[in-house]
Parts: sequence; C-alpha cells; structure tokens
Amino acid sequence: MKRREFLKAAGVGLAAGAVASPAIAQSMPDMKWRLTSSFPKSLDTIFGAAETFAKAVAEATDNKFQIQVFAAGELVPGLQAADTVTNGTVEMCHTASYYYVGKDPTFAFGTNIPFGLNQRMNDAWMFYGGGMDLMNAFYKKYNIHAIPAGNTGAQMGGWFRKEIKDTNDLNGLKMRVGGFAGRVLQKVGVVPQQIAGGEIYPALEKGTIDAAEWVGPYDDEKLGFQKVAQFYYYPGWWEGGPMLHNMVNIDKWNALPKAYQSIINSASHVANTTMMAKYDASNPAALKRLVAAGAQLRPFPQPVMEACFKAANEVYAETSAANADFKKVYESQLAFRGDQYLWWQIAEYGYDTFMIRSRARS
Ligand code: CA
Repeated sequence: MKRREFLKAAGVGLAAGAVASPAIAQSMPDMKWRLTSSFPKSLDTIFGAAETFAKAVAEATDNKFQIQVFAAGELVPGLQAADTVTNGTVEMCHTASYYYVGKDPTFAFGTNIPFGLNQRMNDAWMFYGGGMDLMNAFYKKYNIHAIPAGNTGAQMGGWFRKEIKDTNDLNGLKMRVGGFAGRVLQKVGVVPQQIAGGEIYPALEKGTIDAAEWVGPYDDEKLGFQKVAQFYYYPGWWEGGPMLHNMVNIDKWNALPKAYQSIINSASHVANTTMMAKYDASNPAALKRLVAAGAQLRPFPQPVMEACFKAANEVYAETSAANADFKKVYESQLAFRGDQYLWWQIAEYGYDTFMIRSRARS
C-alpha cells in the first residue's frame, strides 16, 4: 500500500496494525529455537545472560521468535555446546570460545588469552578493531557464526592454600585452571588440573590440589572456597576481560529473516552489557563478605607476574609458528592492545588511580 493511500485509510479509522500486519507476518514468522548454555543455573550471572538474551528476542518479536534456554547438561554437556551447533543439532549456544582450544588454539581469542584484552578493549576490538570479522572467518570452518554476548570483567587469580611469595612457590603447585592458561602456567612450574566446578571444593579441602581459580567474588562465594584455601590472589591475568558468545549454526543464521538477525544482534548487545553490569554491581559486596569470612587478599608478586608474562609470550611465539590462523588473530590483538594501553594510561588510568586513592579519604 502506498503511503498516501495508507494515510487515507488511517484517516477513515482503519486500525494501523490491521493494515501493517500482512507485511510483518511475512518478515516475522513463528519460530522456535533451542539454545544450549555451557553454564549451570547456579552461575546465575553467566547463565542469566542467555535468559536475558532470549527474553529480549521474544519481547522484540511479540513472542513470534522463541528461544528456549537449556542449562549445561540438559541437552549436552557444557563443553560440547559448540559441537552441537557445528553439527546443527541445536540452533545456537551460549559459551566461552576458549573451551574449544583443544580443537584449535585460535578459539582462545574469542574469550581471552592470558594477558589479553580487558572487557572494554575486548568489545572495542570485536566491534571496531576487526575482531568479529577475523573470528567469524575462523568460526566458519566449524559452521558457526558468533556474536559477543557477555563478559565477567577481570577475574580473580583464585584461592591458594599457601602464600605465593616468589616464582619458586609455583613449582609443583597443583592448580585447578582451564585450557590455555594451564599451558602458560606449566612453563613456570604449575601442574594444571582440569576439575569441574562442583568438584573443586572437596579437592581443595582434601589437599588433592593446592589452588583453584574460578571466577570472582560473586561466584566464588557460593562455592565457599575461603573455608579451605584462605589466600585470595589477584589479578586473574589469564582472564583480564573474558568474553562470551552466542554461537549460531551458520546455515540456520543465513536462513533467518534479516529482521531476526538484527534482533539477535541487538539482544546479544543487551546480554553483553547487562552481564558485565550485574557482576560490577554484585562483586564489591561479595568481596566484603568474603574478607569478613576470613579470605586474605594478596596480589601476585611482581616477579611472578613478570615470569608468567614472559611464559605467555613464549607460548604465543610457539603457537604462532605452528598455526597461521592463531598468528593472524594474535597479531591483530597485539597491535590493538598496544594502542589501547597507550590511551588507557592517560584518561582512564589517570582518573581511576586518583579516585582509588581518594576513596580512603572520603
Ligand atoms: Ca576463571
């Protein structure tokens, strides 16, 4: 209907919705998708990001596009979420790309590499630094199209039964730490252990492991680590700004109406922003409670940080020499990180360090 005719029709009292509905019905078909999360419901901030996303999609489409969210283990185990999207069994998943470094280390860049980008920089690289294009060119090999959808911000370094005073204290230290970070820590003497969330506490309690990293105060508090390992180290340099993704089967993505693709992008932005906001709002109170319950905060000593940084750079040089995809994405992130910190040391760092010092006086 031409605009002039529409206005005429509206003028005689014909409901605008009735006139527009045939066009909307075509571009907004009834659809039901499943989303498998890599996370349990107990991680309500991370798992909740997928629920926030699905709700935003349903609301924007008047419930025509419904995405049902399943927790880890309900459809497939958490660490197989991307595989089931690759083979198209499930339309999409909400996951951490670095869970799949066993297939190819390039997956690490979708989340974080040790000493990689912080949360703001990760967003900037993805959306305006070529990151999304680079990663989606890589994910295509796995039939995946991925959209950023959440971040925890810088994580904590985890819980240690003994203090780490210098790099020698890392020698033979059995630590629960995942994937790529484990490869770096191995170079400085740590013996990395892969242990699922629910089994960390008993392993620490029995002394089967000496240390464990999880997320940050809000999530760590629920697992009660302060009761069995009192030294709470920071920062979690292997996760300075780990990003999560909505990964969609590429054929399902390409078959979607453009309007639905756009709504998935927008709803993913909502999840990306609100997940970080929820952590930022929840972590300070949780940290206070943990310290009141006996947690002893400790920064990693500078020589330990330096040794780990050197080890990480060695891992990147070795991996780049063996893997062209890794090299390409690493070089992009490395250049981006350099320019970002050039800028951050001026306004952001200048402002934040003044405010942190002023806090004690106010
Ligand atoms: Ca972690």
